[in-house]
Amino acid sequence: MNNNPNPNNNPNQPNGSGGPAAPGGSRGLLLLAVLIVGVILLFFISSQFNASGQEITLPDLAEAIRAGEVESITVQGDDITAVLNDQTEVQARKESVASFYDTMSLLGVEEAQLQPPTGPEITIQGPNTLGFVFLNILPFVFMIALFGWLAFAMMRSMRGSQDQAMNFGRSRAKMVNIDKPMVTFEDVAGVEESKTELEEIVEFLKDPEKFIRLGARVPKGVLMIGPPGTGKNLLARAVAGEAGVPFMNISGSDFVEMFVGVGASRVRDLFEKARQVAPCIIFIDEIDAVGRMRGTGLGGGHDEREQTLNQILVEMDGFDNETNIIVIAATNRSDILDPALMRPGRFDRKVYVDRPDVAGREKILEVHTRGKPLRVDVDLQTLAKLTPGFSGADLENLVNEGAILAARRNLAGIGMSEFQEAMEKMAMGPERRSRVITPAEKQVLAYHEAGHALAAYFSENADPVHKITIVPRGRAGGYMMSLPESMDNALNTRSQLFDKIVVAMGGRAAEEVVFNQITTGASNDLERATGLARAMVTRLGMSDRLGLRVFGEDENTPFLGRSLGSSRDYSEESARQIDHEISQIIDAAYERAKTILLDNRDKMDALVDLLMEIETVARPEFEAVMAGQRPSLELQPG
Ligand code: ADP
Ligand code: MG
Ligand code: ZN
Repeated sequence: MNNNPNPNNNPNQPNGSGGPAAPGGSRGLLLLAVLIVGVILLFFISSQFNASGQEITLPDLAEAIRAGEVESITVQGDDITAVLNDQTEVQARKESVASFYDTMSLLGVEEAQLQPPTGPEITIQGPNTLGFVFLNILPFVFMIALFGWLAFAMMRSMRGSQDQAMNFGRSRAKMVNIDKPMVTFEDVAGVEESKTELEEIVEFLKDPEKFIRLGARVPKGVLMIGPPGTGKNLLARAVAGEAGVPFMNISGSDFVEMFVGVGASRVRDLFEKARQVAPCIIFIDEIDAVGRMRGTGLGGGHDEREQTLNQILVEMDGFDNETNIIVIAATNRSDILDPALMRPGRFDRKVYVDRPDVAGREKILEVHTRGKPLRVDVDLQTLAKLTPGFSGADLENLVNEGAILAARRNLAGIGMSEFQEAMEKMAMGPERRSRVITPAEKQVLAYHEAGHALAAYFSENADPVHKITIVPRGRAGGYMMSLPESMDNALNTRSQLFDKIVVAMGGRAAEEVVFNQITTGASNDLERATGLARAMVTRLGMSDRLGLRVFGEDENTPFLGRSLGSSRDYSEESARQIDHEISQIIDAAYERAKTILLDNRDKMDALVDLLMEIETVARPEFEAVMAGQRPSLELQPG
């Protein structure tokens, strides 16, 4: 559902009949000429910049890489600069948002060909923002400003009225969506506490008189805080739906526009309209776009924001007992909000909306599968268990993707395999069956994933194996998926964490045990293992030698990103000990994984045979192999 008030981005609409009259005055004409020259100049400069060096198409570049003719590649945003072996420089541009690696893989370049020694040295840099703004955005800003100004001048010369400037802001404020939502609390699942807290608002909107008669201070503003897609918008709509009042929806980012002064006038207009339809709800999504702490804006342009914010506060302060408007604002960054917003009589009520837990996810899945044909094998509880971290919006998307897959397969209902596939696609990017891997590579992959799976199976405190596959997905060659039994791992014991590291090391251990060599496929696993071990030592006080203290600062300091400068608050000696402890944990886990695999080599071989044959092994077949049986292949879906 898209409730955004689709702002009209083309202010160049003829307002009334009549051809484009010339903007009045010679001063205007001069300004017009200057603007046109500016735009042409900027386009000229930008084309100059992009054309240093010879242009080459992406397929040609891919061809050159395959032929080993490229020495190095620098990717900056969408601009690709390649230096060939004869030191000539060529330029290419990718149009899409796909990563350079994905683009190359689509063009048939294998991963090995993108790495030294055979392949080029690759440097990936973020887009050159300053240059990007200058070359790509500025010309457009100029163009739009030009058109806007033209339209402005046109209207003025047509009617010559002072009021036009006001109307300009007003016509855009009309884009505010007003409707009477039909959704109720029934449609919002897994956020029971938030619903309870909003109950009072519903009561108030239904019968404001009751509150006033008792002399209660009427609520004015509610701040909903939570990650994206957790249903803040939906909850606000449900409040309106429950109370049967109109719902006005606008996004904070819509206020912030290039026309100075428009933001504040839009706010004025919005509240004016709300007064006419009250009792009602005004929902301001992404309030942080205008409600940032004042004086902390980086770069220019926050005057406009400040005016908009001030206007919102002025309007809310002007509410009296007869106003009957509730302003609900949503944000996922309450830490950067201006404290003035939270003063009594403004957004003084806070409602936290969290990502759903497993029971909540099941309920959300129920809501979104309601009325959709499901096949009998669908088990929403299992799906809920498999999707920790998914928000309500993710789950809605999952159900939708599953339905699309079922439709494309001409099925009468959505089955578990469609949901599974949709889930994996969402978690790791679309399946890439087309990527060619040699049988030898496939075998290494199979042993790697089997290694993870066996390590998990034979570790007492690891999560049970849910699925093993060697079908490549996104950047991952294959993967093993486990099903957390203890939900949403709120608490992990030391042995659980250790076993997680054993499982992570299982892939690499298998490569060593079987092939006595190590590929690059395990780097991700090592990162994970090191991260876990580091957390055990420095954050969780799980190392005997270093004891119960926390070293360093948490890297995810929520306040405006990271702290500047060094955050190390411990000595060189401690640093050495930390490194030592981490290595010890990882070494021990690696040895443990190797022992498991050596002791169960026959089972690992059997699993690899099965993986080579059917590529994806699910839990029942996996457990059959571990029990020494050869599973019947009919069980395998798809
Ligand atoms: P937010 O405002 O927090 O970013 P939205 O309300 O826009 O999230 O959520 C987008 C969509 O995701 C909703 O329209 C709804 O279909 C689905 N959704 C999100 N949370 C829930 C929930 N708790 N229960 C049911 N559906 C949800
Ligand atoms: Mg949202
Ligand atoms: Zn791995």
